[in-house]
Amino acid sequence: MTEVKLARRVTDIRISPSTAAAQKARDLKAEGRDIVDLTVGEPDFDTPDAIKQVAIDAIHAGDTKYTPVNGTIALRKAIQHDYATRLGIETSLDRICVGGGGKQVLFLALTATVEAGDEVIIPAPYWVSYPDMVVANGGTPVIVQCDEAARFKLTPDALEAAITPATRWVVLNSPSNPTGVAYTGDELRALGAVLMRHPQVLVLCDEIYDRIWYADFEVQSIVSAVPELADRALVVNGVSKSYAMTGWRIGYAAGPKVLIDAINKLQSQSSSCPSSISQAAAAAALTGDQSSVEATVDVYRDRCEKTWEKLNAIEGLSCLKPDGAFYLYPNCAGMIGKTTPDGKKIETDLDFVIYLLESVGVASIHGGAYGLEPHFRISTATSMDVLEDGCARIEKACRALT
Ligand code: PLP
Repeated sequence: MTEVKLARRVTDIRISPSTAAAQKARDLKAEGRDIVDLTVGEPDFDTPDAIKQVAIDAIHAGDTKYTPVNGTIALRKAIQHDYATRLGIETSLDRICVGGGGKQVLFLALTATVEAGDEVIIPAPYWVSYPDMVVANGGTPVIVQCDEAARFKLTPDALEAAITPATRWVVLNSPSNPTGVAYTGDELRALGAVLMRHPQVLVLCDEIYDRIWYADFEVQSIVSAVPELADRALVVNGVSKSYAMTGWRIGYAAGPKVLIDAINKLQSQSSSCPSSISQAAAAAALTGDQSSVEATVDVYRDRCEKTWEKLNAIEGLSCLKPDGAFYLYPNCAGMIGKTTPDGKKIETDLDFVIYLLESVGVASIHGGAYGLEPHFRISTATSMDVLEDGCARIEKACRALT
């Protein structure tokens, strides 16, 4: 039999640990185990009916053909209007691209710009996909550990220290997956001051969670805080998280024309364009009544607050309060070194997460997957009943450690 030899760009990367953990939880449930699944990184709500109806109408109207590579004019106008009104970012339609999810847009941005030896600064804890996307594109991820004391945020000094002549990008994810923390305008301006000294560095702003916002300061993008960076920042967003549209696969970005053109060129030779029907739905999501988003954000906020309180009440765990998104990233240092009832020592956050799964059936993701230990991530994109059950089980498991 012929052995299929895979390229290094594939053998050098991993399957996303969050996808793997979610699959493990599903497999255990299918075996009949009583599992509280806190791994899921997508809204538990359904796409609003009004958005679904627009997609159905688009199908009936024959809106079922290839669209322009860079997305329909209607969707790009909706994105342009959203960036201008919500973030104060003025851009033109030819500086906006649309892809099959924010993930694809981020990937293509790296494909378009990263060569072997190029470095991409990724503050940790990070969304699991960033380092592998960089490696898949031949680059070198430069991981910068961000202190919990600084709310896991990249500081100007740490950014300055990480920049080398080989730096191509710095990634800023605000609000962050997995911590939920977001940068304030002042923090972005301080990072911007460093970046102004290093004109070769591009800024990858992943703002996919910026509508799921709880903080009492205003949502800001580095481009609104530091307009001088507009010609080297790619502001990425999408409808997956805010509008419960993960399966529709629409993400987008605004940035310098040369970069947007390059992303479009790659898209023209890979997928041609994202789904016409999903684009019609995404345009409707951005331009339509926003009350369903506001209602879901209220639910996320409430769950987040209550779960945060419950986790902080567990001896040995501590958790920062998120500014947005639907994750909590508790510190489990107090559990490291303890022993389980069947005599196993908890040496890492992975041991702790495995112990939670095996002893009380709580599925979560270990901090090591996000580049900063000892923590674990739980998603609050599930019902309050499930979250209460999960917290009670975590408490029971923690109390059983000696
Ligand atoms: N960025 C972050 C931080 C995410 O957590 C995700 C999804 O989990 C994405 C980007 C990609 O979302 P999508 O490809 O569905 O737009």
